[in-house]
Amino acid sequence: MAEAYLIKYAEIGIKGKNRYRFEDALVKRVIERVNRVEGRFRVQKEQGRILVESLAEHDEEELIRALSHVFGTAEICPVTQIHDKDFLKICEALVDHIKKRLKDREFTFKVYAKRSDKSYPMQSPEICSEAGSYILEHIPSSKVDVKAPEYRVYIEIRREAYVYLGGYPGAGGMPVGTAGKAMLLLSGGIDSPVAGYRIAKRGVQIEAVYFHAPPYTSERAKQKVVDLAGIISEYTEQIVLHVINFTEIQMAIYENCPHDELTIIMRRYMMRIAEQIAREDECLALVTGESIAQVASQTMQSLAATDAVCDMPVFRPLIAMDKQEIIRESQMIGAYETSILPYEDCCTIFVAKHPVTKPSLSRIEESEKALTEIMPPLVAEAYKTREIIRINPR
Ligand code: ATP
Ligand code: MG
Repeated sequence: MAEAYLIKYAEIGIKGKNRYRFEDALVKRVIERVNRVEGRFRVQKEQGRILVESLAEHDEEELIRALSHVFGTAEICPVTQIHDKDFLKICEALVDHIKKRLKDREFTFKVYAKRSDKSYPMQSPEICSEAGSYILEHIPSSKVDVKAPEYRVYIEIRREAYVYLGGYPGAGGMPVGTAGKAMLLLSGGIDSPVAGYRIAKRGVQIEAVYFHAPPYTSERAKQKVVDLAGIISEYTEQIVLHVINFTEIQMAIYENCPHDELTIIMRRYMMRIAEQIAREDECLALVTGESIAQVASQTMQSLAATDAVCDMPVFRPLIAMDKQEIIRESQMIGAYETSILPYEDCCTIFVAKHPVTKPSLSRIEESEKALTEIMPPLVAEAYKTREIIRINPR
């Protein structure tokens, strides 16, 4: 168990004058996340790093896992913190730190020093060579290897001094909430959760909407979507999920429109409703899990026909990804096992055997004219009766 952790962040570092805004957001996200880990922690900025100090017993693995889900983190390093920056004290702490972590196994190392405190009496190269000699002298199982060391030994001299042996990868990206909010169309499939993860990684807060069609889709299908939102919320914190009862709308389309156009017309109604909620909740864009040519409704013509009903930009983070790549990412974020559970999808129940793959917008608009009278009250009702579920990470 380390007594403190230094968090390095990558992209935030290049944000110029806005940097403090990103740093503050990251500190906030880190605080929210560590609050859900057993223990007690103090989180603060430390010149280009974030410092998490542990004030009570905690499980290091759990804490690192938690921190590695926070977008904006590049690396999480368990460190020993040295309040007195006397060089001998630093070396003693360093040897202690290494012994605790590597026990007496043999290893090769190289020392790296970073000196943010420019008043410190030693220069970095001198710190490296002196500390290296000290380690060799006090840990007989150690050996220097400057070309391909097994361990990078770090000494950072800041307001205080820190020593550590590398770190664990963070989640990358930008802190959630620094790039506005978007509405994710979340189904129970593989793609849309990955799309949500990807957009959130750019700092976008997400809200979600799911179109449910009971009794054609079961409670378990809905539960699957709730579970998927829960998995994404591990990265984003709370997600507000709107569950729309889509049955009547789907039936109206089914009864009044050509069957080869059902999917595309259904999708257009999903987009219209999603946009209405999005606007009300101050979202700036819609997000879907579509990728070109994956299925009939994802040709460029179909995507254009769905976009035609939206005023907001529609983002499709998976647009140029292969299914295999999407599956790998789904596994990486821990959604795959849930996504492949075999519950019915509202769209598969009503799809035609031979859907149009190259819909012409004018033909679709013509077909939708049959809905002019029936649809507005159904859409209004679906919107009004939607269920709003606030989903929190476990
Ligand atoms: P996914 O794996 O995300 O379900 P998919 O490959 O099954 O995607 P489609 O069923 O054509 O593709 O859906 C395309 C996109 O439309 C989805 O990624 C999702 O963003 C949205 N979508 C589809 N069905 C629903 C639904 N029932 N509720 C909310 N969004 C949906
Ligand atoms: Mg689907």
